[in-house]
Amino acid sequence: MFSAKSARVRDRMIGADAPVLVQTMYDKPLSAESVDEVVGEINRLSLMGCDIIRFAFVSGDDSGPFSEICRRSPIPVVADIHFDWRMAILALQAGADKVRINPGNIGQEWKTKEVVKAAADNGAAIRIGLNSGSLPEKFSSLPHPAAMVESALEYIDKFESWGFHNTVVSLKSSSVDETVEAARLFAERCSYPQHIGVTEAGSPVISAVRSTWALGNLLRDGIGDTLRVSMTGDIEDEVTAAVELLRTLGLRKKGVRIISCPRCGRAQFDSIAFEKRIRARLLSLDKDLSVAIMGCHVNGPGEARSADYAITGYGRDVCIYRHGSLVRKTDWERAEDDLMEVIQGE
Ligand code: SF4
Repeated sequence: MFSAKSARVRDRMIGADAPVLVQTMYDKPLSAESVDEVVGEINRLSLMGCDIIRFAFVSGDDSGPFSEICRRSPIPVVADIHFDWRMAILALQAGADKVRINPGNIGQEWKTKEVVKAAADNGAAIRIGLNSGSLPEKFSSLPHPAAMVESALEYIDKFESWGFHNTVVSLKSSSVDETVEAARLFAERCSYPQHIGVTEAGSPVISAVRSTWALGNLLRDGIGDTLRVSMTGDIEDEVTAAVELLRTLGLRKKGVRIISCPRCGRAQFDSIAFEKRIRARLLSLDKDLSVAIMGCHVNGPGEARSADYAITGYGRDVCIYRHGSLVRKTDWERAEDDLMEVIQGE
């Protein structure tokens, strides 16, 4: 089903027939000194399958580095704004492809109207981002999901009355049930695209479980046009989890599928450390294949025969297989580069 309406964010469409997009949020303050590092990280995330990146835009000092990042980023850049409408204007003037605001914490209506006008003037989109913890008083008698939906619909009406339609909505809660219910209620009432995510979802394992349950159920029913698996952890893990969720649901076809054994008492190859070391490189490959990282020589190659490539070892000796046949022997230090070389030599 997915949303009937769509929004444009730089060269990407959100909603309608567009693929579901993966988002993450940069986790450090902006500074002129860190621009190169940030752009490098965005490039890595983009190769791993991230489609949109968001930054907290908190002061006028952010304009310079943010503008540079917008200019150099290969993927659309979003400014996250709280309270101060002038930061949204600055971010849009600096090149933001989208701003995320909660009109309820921007203050008087004319301030939101100024932001909407600036977004229209700069060809940018707006995400109306509502959280269950910050809803207008007048909806306080409603359950959180209904209150978020009513509030979002009111803002959408307002935006439309100002001639603005390039809008995405997110209704988030740290409660999985509230998140799911709000997204479903909204989809029944409105066809604007939705960004979905469980907010403050927790540390990586906990977040992955909670987000997969909530977002997987919504996406399976055609609800959700972009997603973030928010984590108290590494942003590369956020992207990995979101991409893997889409792949598991069949909503993203291309890319490397990593298979790794759960390990047992027979393990002689540190598959956990190796998977961590090589994951970003494997996920960045523009190839449609599977790679098995197995903990031992006894069962590993056999168990991984159905994978396109497999790697395992004993002690410092490491073996690389293609479709179950040994193609290279190497050692622990060179294993990462050798596996990449074998795969890329195809
Ligand atoms: S591949 Fe080896 S270490 Fe991994 S689960 Fe199978 S038997 Fe255990």
